[in-house]
Amino acid sequence: MVKSVTVRAPCSTANLGPGFDVFGMALDAFYDEVTVTKKPKSFGIKIVSSDDIPLDPKKNTAGIVAMNMKKGYKIPDGLEISIKKNVPAGYGMGSSAASAAACAIAINELFKIVDDNELLYYAGSGEKASAGAVHYDNVAASLFGGFVVINPYARIEKDKIEFYSLSVPADLRLVVAVPKIKVPKQKTKASRGVLPKN
Ligand code: ADP
Repeated sequence: MVKSVTVRAPCSTANLGPGFDVFGMALDAFYDEVTVTKKPKSFGIKIVSSDDIPLDPKKNTAGIVAMNMKKGYKIPDGLEISIKKNVPAGYGMGSSAASAAACAIAINELFKIVDDNELLYYAGSGEKASAGAVHYDNVAASLFGGFVVINPYARIEKDKIEFYSLSVPADLRLVVAVPKIKVPKQKTKASRGVLPKN
């Protein structure tokens, strides 16, 4: 019986052009690596990482995904989530989303429970830890690859997230420019906080 699964998920870019919370695209640049290992029930959920990310499962996107999937699918086992960060956090490359996506796929590989739509729902639920709100553009790109289009108005139920996954030309090249500035922790939450409601 498989006890441990390792998944790599790519970084991504989102909010492209007019597609705020709608467009996302996976980038073949950096990949997070997440290993989920089944443990005895009493183990609960633990995050293991030597990178600079929260180790409290409630504050880590991958931990939240695991907590929600464990609850949603009544998974009795404990889960150890080992995270190797390669996507730099806080630079607009969907770092927390890559961990969330990899974790959701790893748990699904271990327990074979979820379809694509539910996988997106659970992976997206992790974004609350970093962005303060659930949004699916980065996680969808990390989960499915290529270019994704999300309908942000149809996302309340787990079987009702409307998304389209489009392949991109294999020879498409992108340049990512990362400014060398200090960004606050949870800068996505901070930035979203200043947006007008409508
Ligand atoms: P970006 O998309 O610019 O990389 P994120 O939305 O990924 O930014 O937010 C990074 C924030 O999310 C950091 O404050 C970090 O502490 C938090 N965070 C929580 N879990 C993770 C994780 N597994 N990987 C990276 N960052 C995480």
